[in-house]
Amino acid sequence: MSTTKTFSLCIHGGAGVINKENLSDKEKELIVKDLNLSLSAGKEILSKGGTASDAACAAVVRLENSVHFNAGKGAVFSRSGQHFLEASIMDGHTLKAGALANSRSIKNPIEFAKTLMHRDDIVMLSGTAADNMANQLKHELVENNYFDTSFRKNQWETAKSLSENAIFLDHSNLKMGTVGAVAIDQNGHLAAATSTGGMTNKIDGRIGDTAIIGCGTYANSICAVSCTGIGEYFIRTTIASLVANLMEYGGLSLEEATHKAIHEHQAMLGGEGGLIAIDNQGHIAMPYNSQGMYRGLVNELDDSQKVYIWNTDENALK
Ligand code: ASP
Repeated sequence: MSTTKTFSLCIHGGAGVINKENLSDKEKELIVKDLNLSLSAGKEILSKGGTASDAACAAVVRLENSVHFNAGKGAVFSRSGQHFLEASIMDGHTLKAGALANSRSIKNPIEFAKTLMHRDDIVMLSGTAADNMANQLKHELVENNYFDTSFRKNQWETAKSLSENAIFLDHSNLKMGTVGAVAIDQNGHLAAATSTGGMTNKIDGRIGDTAIIGCGTYANSICAVSCTGIGEYFIRTTIASLVANLMEYGGLSLEEATHKAIHEHQAMLGGEGGLIAIDNQGHIAMPYNSQGMYRGLVNELDDSQKVYIWNTDENALK
């Protein structure tokens, strides 16, 4: 186990088709600002000796509250024009995890996932049961239309105009925006957290990788992983735990394992997306096979905080 007294944090705001031409300077500025605020929220906790899971959760909450990402406020619309939210979190030290799917009213799904993680009787909850328990435990609930934004409504309308059943079609020309964070704290413990509204125009009730431990989110004592992309491929490759297994049983480095998972396993099935990962030495990897991926990192060692969108960004970490 690492004896590091330093910490690192890495976040993503979703992989997808992010065209330079379609991203105005103003929009880019606002997105970069929110990514930096997310990094700062997590960094504050880690710098005071807080846990990786608290830091990852705080970083994700900041992105859930931003209209620019497909999680919490700003979540995508489902086939029937509603929002169904998913989130999961895992603590690599305790191997405890919490996950929820198809919530219609929890304002910050990742916080409720963290509440589940601290319980011994349950890992994953869905739908009305999740909303009811969150209510009982005093998590903030909102009307489903709280999550509405005109940007996501237009995206949904575009998807429907392509085909009434479009799920992946919309993805080929529109940004996604799932959010996630991975962290290592001053005790060398790792954690990962992910939150999403899923895919635009998804069938009501569809569950993606973000809600599933081992697929969209995984952490153990070796690495922590948070994914974004077309969830079905991430589920079929159990990609987040695949990275950990490639490292533990295949002897691969974090960089090798994450690249193999994204560029071979996931891409071979025809999937598209990316992941962020951190290992117990604080190494970070952020591979993707989509056009871009909003992402950023804080490294206490050199006191750097960086945000990237494309691999062509200066010194972009891949
Ligand atoms: N992975 C998410 C899902 O399939 C979507 C995304 O990452 O953009 O629900």
